[in-house]
Amino acid sequence: MVTLTAIVAPMGRQLYRQFAKHARGQRWIPVRRCNLSACSSKYVLSQVHPMWQGPLAVPGGDRQSPINIAVRKSVFDPQLKPLTFQYDPRTCQQIWNNGYSFLVEYDDTTDKSTLSGGPLEDRYRLCQFHFHWGESNAWGSEHTVDRRVFPAELHLVHWNADKYSLFEEAVMEENGLAVIGVFLKVGKRHEGLQKLVDALPTVRHKDSVVEFTKFDPACLLPTNTENYWTYAGSLTTPPLTESVSWIVMKQPIEVSHDQLAVFRSLLFTSAEEEVQKSMVNNFRVQQPLRGRTVRSSFTPFLQEAPQDSQTPSAGGPQAGHVH
Ligand SMILES: [Zn+2]
Repeated sequence: MVTLTAIVAPMGRQLYRQFAKHARGQRWIPVRRCNLSACSSKYVLSQVHPMWQGPLAVPGGDRQSPINIAVRKSVFDPQLKPLTFQYDPRTCQQIWNNGYSFLVEYDDTTDKSTLSGGPLEDRYRLCQFHFHWGESNAWGSEHTVDRRVFPAELHLVHWNADKYSLFEEAVMEENGLAVIGVFLKVGKRHEGLQKLVDALPTVRHKDSVVEFTKFDPACLLPTNTENYWTYAGSLTTPPLTESVSWIVMKQPIEVSHDQLAVFRSLLFTSAEEEVQKSMVNNFRVQQPLRGRTVRSSFTPFLQEAPQDSQTPSAGGPQAGHVH
């Protein structure tokens, strides 16, 4: 069978060589350093990512993700309820390096680990979580808040088990998925994350899978889950279907530089590949809002910390600042 990989892999290697050459010559300017919407159309960072080659790179309709969240344009919705996380660590099964990120996968054949409340009308089952990160701490998140970029972003992926019977079915449908987004900022070591970080060297290469059990995903949520933004969007990886109710937490979690360094030690490539490629910058470029409303569960005007101050906000000292 002639696989797409057989065609794409050599292309990928070629692109990687070009990319490496550019990076060495200091001519490569990271897309996240400047105006995102302008850069995303000009620069082809997406082309060096294994997942963004070929026809799948063409985005779909009017509700694509990720986006920039403009705090002052978000609309406070007092109807938004608190979220209910009901996670059973015993449903955690394995870690899989899928060649773009690492997925911590959960048994979703029962309602043992679910998310409900907030903007959601139904109950959604947790199937996996994963992260997106940059090659340095200066960028890496997919969403941004007032154009501020975080070094990484966690996505907890859930599917609507009240309306659908399988993830594969839900992924194609409106209200099929609910994804929680949590920003990561650099600070002190995250004790809950460390168990996962310790296991990562065993899934260094693409397609490696390792058993991983009894991990409570709730430990990766910020202490304040009451403050969030929500909007109608899409998956940020193929198939890019517009089936996602996004719930992006206002408060980031703190992880150490060393923990992020372990993320960056993973590889996009499998053990057999000639040129090994670090798993970094595995985020999608930002997409136009196209008239969508971002709702907030909180009133931004009362709680917003002054710009560039050291005053701790709900997100802790220097929340969201990138140095
Ligand atoms: Zn994601």
